[in-house]
Amino acid sequence: MKYYDVIVIGAGPSGIITGVTGKKENPDKSFLMIMEEQKGLVPCGIPYVFHDLDDITQNIMGPAPFISAGGEVIVDTVTSVDIPRKTLTTKSGETFSWEKLVFATGSAPTVPKFIKGYDLGNIEYVKKSYSYIESLVEKVKNSRDIVVIGGGFIGAEMAEQLAKDPDRNITLVEMEEHCLNRAFSSDFAAMADDHLTNAGVKLRCGCRVEEFLGTGSVEAVALQGAERIPADLVICSIGYGPRTELAAEAGLEITGNGTIKVDRYMRTSARDVFAVGDCSSTSGFITGNPDNIMLASTATAEARVLGYNLFCIHLLRTFAGTLSVFSTEFDGYAFASAGAIEETARRADIDYVTGRFEDVDRHPGSLPGAKKMIVKLIVTPETGRIIGAEIYGGKSVGELINLISLAIQKQVTVFELVSFQMGTHPLLTPAPTKYVLVKACEAAISMIRKRCS
Ligand SMILES: Cc1cc2nc3c(=O)[nH]c(=O)nc-3n(C[C@H](O)[C@H](O)[C@H](O)COP(=O)(O)OP(=O)(O)OC[C@H]3O[C@@H](n4cnc5c(N)ncnc54)[C@H](O)[C@@H]3O)c2cc1C
Repeated sequence: MKYYDVIVIGAGPSGIITGVTGKKENPDKSFLMIMEEQKGLVPCGIPYVFHDLDDITQNIMGPAPFISAGGEVIVDTVTSVDIPRKTLTTKSGETFSWEKLVFATGSAPTVPKFIKGYDLGNIEYVKKSYSYIESLVEKVKNSRDIVVIGGGFIGAEMAEQLAKDPDRNITLVEMEEHCLNRAFSSDFAAMADDHLTNAGVKLRCGCRVEEFLGTGSVEAVALQGAERIPADLVICSIGYGPRTELAAEAGLEITGNGTIKVDRYMRTSARDVFAVGDCSSTSGFITGNPDNIMLASTATAEARVLGYNLFCIHLLRTFAGTLSVFSTEFDGYAFASAGAIEETARRADIDYVTGRFEDVDRHPGSLPGAKKMIVKLIVTPETGRIIGAEIYGGKSVGELINLISLAIQKQVTVFELVSFQMGTHPLLTPAPTKYVLVKACEAAISMIRKRCS
């Protein structure tokens, strides 16, 4: 039986970053990472394999940085873990012992077993697996009528990419009123719907799938009511569930939403055993309530905390919960949000005001490439603290939301941000005279003043 100081199960973003950070921090310790497949892919890049990237080989991700740092990797699947004996066994029959064990086993797409016909042929998923996506690309090439089920960001990105081929009919079915409804309030989500439609996606929002129809393979999707959408391929994207069977069988505590229970330092209920990324529990930064945010950005932030603190706590965790910083782009326009959106605040009984401003992201706005930009801030009226934001616009939105995320984490108020010293340039940013973020702060201050008068 071979011994390692640290064994990481899984080589997704959280496993790789835990391994790289941990090994760099502890060069004298031996590290092993166990990965299920020889080839890995950038999960967030999967939708772009179907159009914008030439092929799947442009989207590969692997443990090279971990190996360069001195870690070892094997391709195998862990089948059992014995925590009291500090050992684990793999599918190929090998047994390893460890001092510290990290579960980075991630998540897998939810299978809609509650929909009749879910097991017909050509009903597929967006699995984070190189070999699976490689074969899905082939299926897509041979399909004309594709129905994507689920208008979260993964389903919406898939539909937008697939619709770039004019020879295909792409329908996106979402049971809520709008796509992206978990990340955006209805005004922003409605704009996302418009852009998806403009990109050639046939949207069917507010529709529930009743049945998949066909003999052997899917031929149509039946919606509630009489509507039937022809389909030679269905891609289900109705959510992801944490992969925690192994951890549960090993006796680790599992939360009500199926994740491995961890504390602020990713420590599980067993000493020397950690869990990180999609498989581990999170709680909301604003609400403090347990949630199941599954983002690579969250997973890697957790992995850095864990990598530094595997053997003892060197790096104090300064974030108290998951902010859920999210961004995407359709039809050339970006959407991003962080922290509370109006719906989240309402549901958590948080008193809030909004500050909204829209302008263009260049100055003058007649410059080529200028795009409309909208910033909406969610602010607590008592303190002026920013607790959430939604942004729409060009590519700069992707980094502006990260700035706002820091402001939320550092408890910055609109009173402070209103005199924020920013850099501006005609080709790069909005005008300093009407910098959209600052104007949104001013709008929030006006709302607070109105409340006080
Ligand atoms: C299409 C798509 C687009 C996305 N876009 C974004 C985005 O734009 N931004 C963003 O922040 N997030 C995005 N995400 C979410 C992000 O991909 C996940 O949050 C991230 O993959 C989580 O990383 P992880 O390492 O925790 O889990 P995973 O990526 O799921 O990796 C877990 C790994 O563990 C392995 N494993 C599991 N069990 C075992 C076992 N028993 N033995 C050995 N290995 C095992 C699996 O094979 C897998 O490789 C996207 C996800 C998808 C699917």
